[in-house]
Amino acid sequence: MVTTVELRSRLKHTIGSDTYLRFIKALHRLPRTNTKLRYWQQDVWDSFVAANPDCDMVIDDLIDALRLCELHEVEMQAVEVRACRDHFDFVREYEQDMVERFPHAKPDRLMVSDDHRGSTIQTWFCPECERVLNTSQWRTKADEPCDEPKSW
Ligand SMILES: [Zn+2]
Repeated sequence: MVTTVELRSRLKHTIGSDTYLRFIKALHRLPRTNTKLRYWQQDVWDSFVAANPDCDMVIDDLIDALRLCELHEVEMQAVEVRACRDHFDFVREYEQDMVERFPHAKPDRLMVSDDHRGSTIQTWFCPECERVLNTSQWRTKADEPCDEPKSW
């Protein structure tokens, strides 16, 4: 069994940096209850494991090993946030900034399904995304209500 650092290094070197970061990004988007990689990820993973049999692992371990921010390539940290059953949207400018500059900043709440029990839910955030958000217009002008991310 390889170490997490060795796995990341070999996977990135083998599949290339762009595919590696796309692979990580797609892992973040898997539903919490999903136990399967996307079709293209499975192809990439199967080819990698065929050449690196000592890296073979179950999907939950793979998700843990690659829990990195695809933008900053730093380790994500666990955090408990409010569970929210209502749908909410952000203003377009904030959402665009979030996607491009801080996709994994610490959320103050997460939407959950009706069958989720409890008032909080665990998620992960990137400390570097959080730093970028905290130094952005969205936090430094917090006293101006129009610049606050809005939700409905
Ligand atoms: Zn980040």
